Formats: sequence, structure tokens, C-alpha cells
Amino acid sequence: MGGGARILEATPESIREAADILLAGEVVALPTETVYGLAAVIGDDGALRKIFRVKGRPSCDPLIVHVLDLSGLLGLAEVGGALLDRVRRLCDAFCPGPLTFVLRKKKAVSDIITAGKKTVAIRMPSHPIFREILRRTGPLAAPSANPFGYVSPTYAEHVRASMGEEISHILDGGPCEIGVESTILDLSGKRFTILRPGAITAEMIGEVLGERAKPLRPMVSTDPAAPGMLRQHYSPRTKLRLFRESAAEILLNFGENSEKNVAIIYLSQNHGPPFGEKKWAENIFWLSEAGDWNEVARNIFALLRRLDGMEFDLICCQVPEKIGVGAAINDRLSRAAAKF
Ligand code: AMP
Ligand code: MG
Repeated sequence: MGGGARILEATPESIREAADILLAGEVVALPTETVYGLAAVIGDDGALRKIFRVKGRPSCDPLIVHVLDLSGLLGLAEVGGALLDRVRRLCDAFCPGPLTFVLRKKKAVSDIITAGKKTVAIRMPSHPIFREILRRTGPLAAPSANPFGYVSPTYAEHVRASMGEEISHILDGGPCEIGVESTILDLSGKRFTILRPGAITAEMIGEVLGERAKPLRPMVSTDPAAPGMLRQHYSPRTKLRLFRESAAEILLNFGENSEKNVAIIYLSQNHGPPFGEKKWAENIFWLSEAGDWNEVARNIFALLRRLDGMEFDLICCQVPEKIGVGAAINDRLSRAAAKF
């Protein structure tokens, strides 16, 4: 699988090369601490359009802009008074890191990035390679480097496997440390809203701001506050079903005694095969030895991709409760299973 894209080992030379390619108006796939991104400089409309073309992403789904620091953010967004104080406190606590701010945009920010909205999404990635590139290029727009709707990439090889024909360069920064996309935070209201849960949780943000999040509503793409938050997303090609405690019911419905080949993913290691039957033993996978949710988040997309390449008829995956990082994992899995 995969096409002609070159995977460049990250060295000072390849980092310089990647930055030069970006500055010349091309797209390059780059590692971040969340997932791999497909980057373009924000001043080049042709390069920005290429992101949408390569991903097959609808133009109504806005991009996140990546900057080095708060001053980079303030160059792109209108932030003053009490809002600046809130942003500053959150930056002190969580940035650089996997937290995206949705703020009123400055005029100069391209409508291609914001999908015509008056707001822009901005974050400060912590990945040292991405930051080194940012120092050379200035702000970069970068959505996840996967075809629209498919499972996000957490290894350079994932990017090559699913869009290697469409792009020329992938910078390899090893596996992504966090593994799920950034938390998207809307600060436009009296109380903050989480538009997409991530590793920085509502509880963590609430503690810093001294207030509680507005409750999460189920997001759909028609919601003007959260364009692009589709109910169906991150999906493998293989049918995916979710369970809380036991996969037995899904398996019985699917035909437990048939010839169907079913993979079962548990959050932690200490689960035996369903029905105690040996024949399932080879089909059992787990995401974290001890059920550590940060580890689950780090591994989930890679395991879904791996199983998707193994010709299973069905993948059954255990979901965590929507608490802490579990909310982000639950969100991604629910969207991944929504189309089946
Ligand atoms: P990603 O695909 O990970 O780059 O995330 C981009 C997502 O950020 C989009 O699908 C939107 O849901 C969200 N987003 C980006 N810009 C905005 C904005 N101006 N307002 C609300 N959500 C946004
Ligand atoms: Mg994405």
C-alpha cells in the first residue's frame, strides 16, 4: 500500500528542506504531538486549497492554524480585555500543547482557512520538529493528514499508506505522543464550551478558569458553532461496533457460530475470550496493559488501522466512560462506529 511520497527522517537538513518546500507553496505532512498533520503556509491560497483537495475535505470544514506562542495567536485573532486574561491563563497552563482556541479572526486570515467564518481556530503545538518548522515558515494551517472521514494518522507510515500518491514529502517524527486530536475550546460565550474533547479535559480547563463548561451537546456538521464536527468520522472500512462491558451480545447478534472473523478490542489486558472459547483467543486485542486512558488514546488509531488491513468482518471495541481523556476516546470511537 501507499504511494510515492518520501518519508524523511527528521534531521536538521530534512527539517530545513521541509520548511523550504512549504515556503515554496507545497503541502508537507508533519508530526505533531496529537496526530500527523498536512501543513501549508497560511498566506498561500493555492497551498491551502491543495490541503482540501488532497484530503477530499469539504471547503465548509475550517482548518486549525498552528503558531509558536501567544504572540503568534494574537497576530491572527482579536483578543482583548477579559478574554485576553482567560487565554493567557490557559496558555500558561497548557500551551504549547493539544489545546485549540476558537477566537474572532483578524481580517487578514484567509476565508479558505475559516470556511468563511468570522472565527479562527488556533493552537500551539508542542512537538519539537513541528516547532522548528514553524520558526522557519511562520503560522501553518494543518488538519490531520488522512483522507476525509478515515482514521487519523499517528505514524508517518499511516500518512504514506493513505495519501502517499497525492503528496511528495512526509517528515517522520516517530509515533504521536497523544494520539487523538486537540481539544477545541470555544471561549466566545460567558461559559466556555468544548467543541471537541481531547487530552486537555473540560475538568482541567474548568480548574484554570474557575468555572464549569457548558454541557457538551452532540455536535453535527450543521451546527454553526462547530462546522466539520461530523457524526460520522474517523471510520475504518471494516464494520465497527462498540460495547461497554461485554462483546457477547454483539457477537451473538452477528452470528457467534458462523465463519465470520471478528476482532475484539479491550481497553485493558485483563480480559479473556468471550464465552471462554479458545477460538477467540487470537482475535483479542487490547489498547493498554493496565487500562491507562492516555495509553489507550495513543494506541487507538494505530490499532484500528492495523485491524482494518487484516480482513476482519467486524471489529468490536470497548469504549470508556466519558470522563477525563475517556471523553475524547469515546467521542472518536462513537463517530468511527456511527456509519455502521
Ligand atoms: P482538524 O480536522 O483536526 O484539523 O480539526 C479541524 C476542526 O476544527 C474542524 O473540523 C472544526 O470542527 C474545528 N474548527 C476549525 N475552525 C473552527 C472555527 N472557526 N469555529 C469552530 N470550529 C472550528
Ligand atoms: Mg481530522
